[in-house]
Amino acid sequence: EVKPLFTYLKEAAALRPNHTALHFLGKDISYASLYSQCKSFANGLLQLGLQKGDRVAIMLPNSPQSVIAYYGALMAGGVVVQTNPLYTERELSHQLADSGATFIVCLDKVFARVAAVKEMTSLRHLIVTGIQDYLPFPKNVVYPFVQKKQKPHIIVDLTYGPYVHAFKKMVSKSSDEDVSVSVDPMEDLALLQYTGGTTGAAKGVMLTHANLVINAKQCLLWTHRDGPGDDIVLAALPFFHVYGMTVCMNQGIMTCSTLVILPKFEAKEVLETIHKKRPTLFPGAPTMYIALLNHKDVSRYDLSSIQACISGSASLPSEVQQKFQSIISGSLVEGYGMTETSPVTHANLIHGKQVKGSIGIPWPDTEAGIYSSERGEFVAPGEVGELLVKGPQVMKGYWNQPEETAAVMQDGWLMTGDMGYMDEEGYFYIVDRKKDMIIAGGFNIYPRDVEEVLYEHEAIQEAVVLGVPDPYRGETVKAYIVVKSGATVTEEALNTYCRKHLAAYKVPRLYEFREELPKTMVGKILRRALLEEEKEKQK
Ligand code: ATP
Ligand code: MG
Repeated sequence: EVKPLFTYLKEAAALRPNHTALHFLGKDISYASLYSQCKSFANGLLQLGLQKGDRVAIMLPNSPQSVIAYYGALMAGGVVVQTNPLYTERELSHQLADSGATFIVCLDKVFARVAAVKEMTSLRHLIVTGIQDYLPFPKNVVYPFVQKKQKPHIIVDLTYGPYVHAFKKMVSKSSDEDVSVSVDPMEDLALLQYTGGTTGAAKGVMLTHANLVINAKQCLLWTHRDGPGDDIVLAALPFFHVYGMTVCMNQGIMTCSTLVILPKFEAKEVLETIHKKRPTLFPGAPTMYIALLNHKDVSRYDLSSIQACISGSASLPSEVQQKFQSIISGSLVEGYGMTETSPVTHANLIHGKQVKGSIGIPWPDTEAGIYSSERGEFVAPGEVGELLVKGPQVMKGYWNQPEETAAVMQDGWLMTGDMGYMDEEGYFYIVDRKKDMIIAGGFNIYPRDVEEVLYEHEAIQEAVVLGVPDPYRGETVKAYIVVKSGATVTEEALNTYCRKHLAAYKVPRLYEFREELPKTMVGKILRRALLEEEKEKQK
């Protein structure tokens, strides 16, 4: 039986009221306190006139407030719209207007941006908080992420307008009585979650309470847990992205775990936190594991508390998988998912067979197949086609985009837009995104094949391969390289190396060395930004 998502927080608070739910920059918040603050926030929203189904935008980095705003909004019957705190006014006004959000909970630092777009959106209430709302600020402690000059008080002028409210006051002044908005988990939306925006404009994905609850439960089944345990979850992935939201936050709360919350990924901070707080579970993205492995002091930290890491959001180079796994106690396994599926559909087994380079097997109750759109049928093992998935975590559809929805959903199957294959044993492999495939001189090239080889080169820290326009070959293969600090490598050396390990047509014709690569908030390399630069250059 599936209950509304916030019911699981209520149960956790009843079961282990004094257990630490959140640990944030030196401060602990118990389950009883977290639940009570969520109820107060929910009551505060209802007092401001929130009606069931109203959209509540949240524009916060990971923090106690981000958890309270999320669960509080759901309790009040609201639909959460997660917004990236780094969004510019343009991106922000698009997302707010598209979702029709009437409330927003934001960080004081981004207030100016929110206020600037208010008139272009349906926003009616701006609820403001500062990281320092949840910090004790003792003297002599310098908190990371908080600017030294910033005083421990809200820097937004609350007299700005009657529609501006202080988060802290809403929570402390509102009653923490049970909120009695009834929610149908199968039908009612919990979330309008915008896709990563990696391939184009972000689309609003409609996810129900059941979608989110079931995906978190699938995560428990997969890790062989069926209820409360003693996990400490390192929450370095942002909660405003569906991956961190389900796999760190919701899954953690469902098991009464302690969430060690980091507002931002910073390699040294993460290493120190693991060393001191001894987390057992560390979900992450490949670029995170790469950054940690390449940190100059990595060997000085004890990472042995980590029992399991799940890597998703982009393909995990085998090199990185092996090396990172060797410095933790348990396994680092690759999984796969997308916003449209709440997000996880596949993973390798933590306590079972792991296959290198594979995204693993479908999660419980999830069906998957490889489909040929040319032939209109599922294909045999080993053959490449588009990955299709079906299961209780699949979205209702895209918000206000019936045509886009119909284009990707048929008979309950979701077309992922990712190309891959299945082996004889039922393990799945992603070859690449359909859209990223390069066609050079009539050959199909999947960037990932080339990237895998580049990652094996000892001087390379990060690599991304794209097809850039070419007058003769249609497209030509270009590699962007970030060299490890202290290492050097020339274009000629890379060319010789690639010729040795790749078929000639796959070998990059162009190389560009960079200090860093543009990334999305979950650390996905933004090919689109690089492609746009290329297009600009060709003009
Ligand atoms: P948009 O749809 O707006 O372009 P996006 O697809 O990057 O953005 P998300 O929903 O966050 O937004 O990401 C899902 C995608 O991430 C998948 O479709 C797939 O391409 C990629 N992905 C996730 N996990 C893996 C993995 N293990 N290996 C390869 N690709 C992965
Ligand atoms: Mg997508």
